[in-house]
Amino acid sequence: MTHAQLELLLQRLTDRLAEALRTEPLDLRVGHRVGTELVAAHIASAEALGRTVEVIQLRLVRDLDLVADDIDDRMARLLAAIATGYARALRDRTLDEQESIRRAALTARADAERALRASEARFRHQATHDPLTGLPNRTLFGERLAAVLDGPTSGVHRVGLCFLDLDRFKRINDSYGHSIGDRALVAAARRLSRAVEPHLVARLGGDAFVILVERSTGTGDVVAVAEAALAALAEPILVGGHDVAVPASVGIVERRVADTSPDDLMRAAGSTLHWTKLAGGAGWTLYDAERDRREQARQALSAAIPGGLERGEFYLDYQPLTSLQDGSLLGVEALVRWRHPQLGVLGPDNFIGLAEETGLIVPLGAWVLAEACREAVGWTAAVGEPPYVSVNLAVRQVRRPGLVQEVRGLLARTGLPPNRLQLEITESMMMSGTEEAVRVLRALADLGVRIAIDDFGTGYSNLAYLRNLPVTELKVAGEFVRGLRAPEAADERILASLVSLAHALDLTVTAEGVETVGQAERLRAIGCDAGQGWHFGRPAPADHILSRIR
Ligand code: C2E
Ligand code: CA
Ligand code: CA
Repeated sequence: MTHAQLELLLQRLTDRLAEALRTEPLDLRVGHRVGTELVAAHIASAEALGRTVEVIQLRLVRDLDLVADDIDDRMARLLAAIATGYARALRDRTLDEQESIRRAALTARADAERALRASEARFRHQATHDPLTGLPNRTLFGERLAAVLDGPTSGVHRVGLCFLDLDRFKRINDSYGHSIGDRALVAAARRLSRAVEPHLVARLGGDAFVILVERSTGTGDVVAVAEAALAALAEPILVGGHDVAVPASVGIVERRVADTSPDDLMRAAGSTLHWTKLAGGAGWTLYDAERDRREQARQALSAAIPGGLERGEFYLDYQPLTSLQDGSLLGVEALVRWRHPQLGVLGPDNFIGLAEETGLIVPLGAWVLAEACREAVGWTAAVGEPPYVSVNLAVRQVRRPGLVQEVRGLLARTGLPPNRLQLEITESMMMSGTEEAVRVLRALADLGVRIAIDDFGTGYSNLAYLRNLPVTELKVAGEFVRGLRAPEAADERILASLVSLAHALDLTVTAEGVETVGQAERLRAIGCDAGQGWHFGRPAPADHILSRIR
């Protein structure tokens, strides 16, 4: 407000006050209004009110020349009214100011909360989505799955999972580079989520995805989803000028919500996916509880092998290898058994395959070898040579470096003469024999150990190949022996020529699975050197063999 404006205002107010003082009855509202207007004009300090009161009191009555009996009284009441109006206006202004501060504070807080919510949403999105493909990640998938399984009406509902994994995706990365690989993944992810809408597709990492079928009415629903997903990936993806093929495998699990848990469902889906991969990929497989149970039992059995070895649950039975010429005991084959604390005595067919798959055959085979040598060294014959012990070797044992040293060490430690140890190697292993395997066999033969080809006749039966190998014996598989029923049967002629060929190569022949005296007679007539089978004796503990030797 300029000085002139201020003067004008004060003039106006003064006029109004003068008017009020002259008017009967005294209108105190004029005083109130003047006080209010002073504050509105920002004449609002404590001093300003004092000064105003002073000026009005000293000057107004005098200047106006007012004479009335009650003029002092009227003036006092008018001044009080001004002060009241002034104080009220001041208070109202303060309240207004406080109110606007409060409002500003509220607005600021609301803004801050909105910003916080936005960044929380951003964080939440980042924490629950895969940065590459933008698909939900494992966390979000886990939450949704848990929510489905915990649902209130879960008793009647069914749920399905498709666990999908691209086949040999590593090759795409290897041949085109990771950036092409990433772009192919992004494209595959987009195709997948479009193809199976509205079902949730999550990326679990790498090239693994999972599709959640929340309200399934049966396996058919989930199979249809899997087929839609596979169809979406059937065409190659064009990335950076390359036609990138993305075949995929799917494992499908579908069951009642009430009968399952997230972990259970995921584990089953993972196993089922594995079955698809085993079958060559590019397709889907439906979960099979019976197969899963079998595989889990195998898994458990395999996991128990190391403990079983530690606790001495394995032992060896020995089966005679008998001369067909004079009936003497030439050797014995060591056959491993497992006295399982819960399952009873298990034959090798129950666990050798497992041990080979998992590599546990290495420690198990080493134990068998050592145990056979340890027991055999104590066998002494009353007349002639004590029998040799024949030990089965798995492929893994031969492929592993250090076998020659292991055998040499064993012979030295136990004092078993090398020619009383025979190692049985399967025919298929010989055929796939690398240079290295042949070198190992030579080194073993050089130690003086016998080498036999086990189960001969079940594979390639390539005798010519044997010419270059340091083999001393052929063990002809029981299948051949079983064919020896009628005289002049084809099997008998084949076996006869096999025996003469083997002899020409300086190999002795042992027939396996000899169950009858008739078979033994025929084999002897053909010229077979030795027999093994129930006719000569079943596999039995070492002391049984010992008494037989004596
Ligand atoms: P294999 O080497 O062919 O051993 C002979 C198998 O034939 C033994 O079965 C034996 O009990 C059985 N057998 C013996 N005589 C007869 C007969 O007259 N008729 C019939 N039907 N069967 C007969 P087993 O003990 O169950 O062993 C099975 C296989 O397990 C063995 O076949 C061998 O390949 C493997 N195996 C056994 N012990 C070991 C081991 O310590 N290491 C490795 N790597 N494999 C082993
Ligand atoms: Ca054998
Ligand atoms: Ca055999």
